[in-house]
Amino acid sequence: MKCCSVCGCTFDQIVKSQRIGCAECYYTFAEEFRATLETYGISGEYKGSLPKRLKGYRSTLVDRMTMQIKLEEAVAAEDYEKAALYRDYLKVLNHGTEIKDGQQ
Ligand SMILES: [Zn+2]
Repeated sequence: MKCCSVCGCTFDQIVKSQRIGCAECYYTFAEEFRATLETYGISGEYKGSLPKRLKGYRSTLVDRMTMQIKLEEAVAAEDYEKAALYRDYLKVLNHGTEIKDGQQ
């Protein structure tokens, strides 16, 4: 099974814990994330809200995966303003419940 070369997480562990192990995980499991998002019906624009029937499936993990993909797309398109926005969202999602020192 594929695992992250930096933190050693497998995709199963990430899904179960609802936590991304590290930044490298996004790249290691990019295809898996995309496939997972498709099963959730999220493949187009990120609108910040999902249809009601999908609400139950929504998780911060899905948000993170969506943001990471949007970030990659923005970087690929050299739209750095958007990229910065998505990166900020990701920071909040990754550290939303944790206080990181020295970052403010
Ligand atoms: Zn990792």
